[in-house]
Amino acid sequence: MNKGTKQFETRVIHDGYDSVDHFGSLTPPLYQTSTFTFGNAQQGEQRFAGEEEGYIYSRLGNPTVRVLEERMASLENGKGALAFGSGMAAVSAILFHLLKAGDHILCSRGVYGCTFGLLEMLEEKFNITHDYINLSTEEEIRKFITNDTSCIYVETPINPTMELIDLSLVCKIAKEHNLPVVVDNTFCSPYLQQPLDIGANYIVHSATKYICGHGDVIGGILVGDSLEQMNHIRMTTQKDVGGIMSPFDAWLLIRGLKTLPVRMDRHCESAQKIAGYLKKHKSIKAIHFPGLKDDPNHAIAHTQMKQYGGLIAFEIDGTKEMAQTFMNELKMIKIAVSLGDAETLIQHPASMTHAVVPVEVREQMGITDTLLRLSIGLEAWEDVCEDLDQAFKKLHGMALRLS
Ligand SMILES: *Cc1c(COP(=O)(O)O)cnc(C)c1O
Repeated sequence: MNKGTKQFETRVIHDGYDSVDHFGSLTPPLYQTSTFTFGNAQQGEQRFAGEEEGYIYSRLGNPTVRVLEERMASLENGKGALAFGSGMAAVSAILFHLLKAGDHILCSRGVYGCTFGLLEMLEEKFNITHDYINLSTEEEIRKFITNDTSCIYVETPINPTMELIDLSLVCKIAKEHNLPVVVDNTFCSPYLQQPLDIGANYIVHSATKYICGHGDVIGGILVGDSLEQMNHIRMTTQKDVGGIMSPFDAWLLIRGLKTLPVRMDRHCESAQKIAGYLKKHKSIKAIHFPGLKDDPNHAIAHTQMKQYGGLIAFEIDGTKEMAQTFMNELKMIKIAVSLGDAETLIQHPASMTHAVVPVEVREQMGITDTLLRLSIGLEAWEDVCEDLDQAFKKLHGMALRLS
């Protein structure tokens, strides 16, 4: 297979696998094994010495997991990829790789709640400090780079407020200072955004979300622009810290990944329609969706995203209690964290995904008590709107009773 020459929609199905090597099996087989036997003692010695290609033990590599890794490397236009047992295992692996005690990280203003927790832990235990900044102007970025800064860590769109970071600006300045840029690409998936092409060096994914697409796996992926670095991470951080992905989870992810472009098109198309509906609703104070023409992030979205994504954040005009009542009144839409599944999900970031973030920081991040985040599923968008609509009517009744 000539890697990288076919279209994304084709590579997502074929790259990293050749059925000829597997008895013609159309689907990549599940190698549910912990270890691999050696033909003789010398072969074992050669494998350990790296003098002969081949598998040794599944924490160091597994053929099913390898198919997923090679496919993801191709989809992100990277040189290598590693699969982990969760998105957080991928995030922690790249930070362990890039950082040492006393270093400093420059971060986008908002990051995933557990990434926030990990950064706190790194500071407490290893004096690795961090600054959360807007990353929106050249002057601001330069101002915060110190002699100890050893990477820039970016989430875009930012969870859950859907603000975007201009990746080409960040990568340009990072290059001048010789700093690696890590991008959490979970919200876009490689189908909507390919940060390595813009100049980033590492991509992390919570594969749990759009890559899986079916809400049945927890997994993470790290992609890099240097095969040498990725091989080094495989044989150090991944092997010795050990947060690897199981072969069965890799098998499910290979299966889910095949439909990524088809699913993303539907998620994005429905989100656009539902955002249009929400924007006009009188019970809403604010809406954050880069696909809306007057959204402050609309212009950046055009430069770096193929479509606007499947997530919408909006603020109920009222109190926290009203936001929770609204959630409770939904009939089809499920109350759950996570995103990118076939089912439309709603969550309350201030009390759920971002509950660990101190309230002042949360407010700086724009996460108010009435902010809700919707992950648009694959249902008919009209049915999602209908469910939102009937819950708004109940809320309206409640507001009238209170007044
Ligand atoms: C879910 C998520 C993670 C963490 O991934 P897990 O698979 O839950 O460990 C990291 N970043 C973002 C943006 C996420 O949405």
